[in-house]
Amino acid sequence: MLSMIFNIQKFSIHDGPGIRTSVFFKGCNLRCAWCSNPESQSTEPEILREPDGDRVCGRTYSVRELMDEILKDRVFYESSGGGVTLTGGEPFLQSEIAEGLCSELKRERIHIAAETAGNIDEKIFARLAGMIDFIYIDFKHYDAEKHLKYTGADNKLIRKNILWLKDNHPQFVVRIPVIPGFNDSSEDAYGFAKALSEMGIKQVQLLPFHRLGEKKYEYTGKDYLYKNVKPLSAKQLEEYSKILTEAGVISK
Ligand code: SF4
Repeated sequence: MLSMIFNIQKFSIHDGPGIRTSVFFKGCNLRCAWCSNPESQSTEPEILREPDGDRVCGRTYSVRELMDEILKDRVFYESSGGGVTLTGGEPFLQSEIAEGLCSELKRERIHIAAETAGNIDEKIFARLAGMIDFIYIDFKHYDAEKHLKYTGADNKLIRKNILWLKDNHPQFVVRIPVIPGFNDSSEDAYGFAKALSEMGIKQVQLLPFHRLGEKKYEYTGKDYLYKNVKPLSAKQLEEYSKILTEAGVISK
């Protein structure tokens, strides 16, 4: 079996502890309007029309090929307390190959992290999540209808998978991407605070909206709806964060 990967990024320092290799799985079952990796969404390879010329984005790798790349940087994982992060796209959509990769990483005693949007069948989610040391899972909106309107799916599976993590996983963080016009009002902050308190979640991080993926929309020929949207100010974010902190759901 082969994986479909669109990037293998060495020396990542933002996707988990220490120095990491981030493996970007291609394909996602959400279509978030603000997505900063539009080239990650399709499960097929695609042509990016970049300024330096056309580039094919996405290719297949076997577990062995992925491990060969990953093991080249083993010394850095060991010296920094790092490892490998499965990200995307949605790495849990390629669950069989991801499980095969996790088995090999475990055999080599390499720390595994993953970033997931959590819109995954509960059994598949639990099986793969159980092999991963540290999980970042998004909770994009507490309101199912709004979630559906802006991402293409409601939040039912995501809620269930967050609750599974709460009951079964020792190390995870729930991340809220704070997106202008979608979930950035103080009413939204109170809505998240209430929903997450009721779920018993206490380890939330905020991911402020940015436009770093803007150029990629040009390269993929897709429309970018957030072209002129400004990121939140530091003051707005602080006020938003304060509401969640006071509710006891933000991790310090
Ligand atoms: S879940 Fe992530 S990768 Fe998928 S569309 Fe949303 S922002 Fe993009």
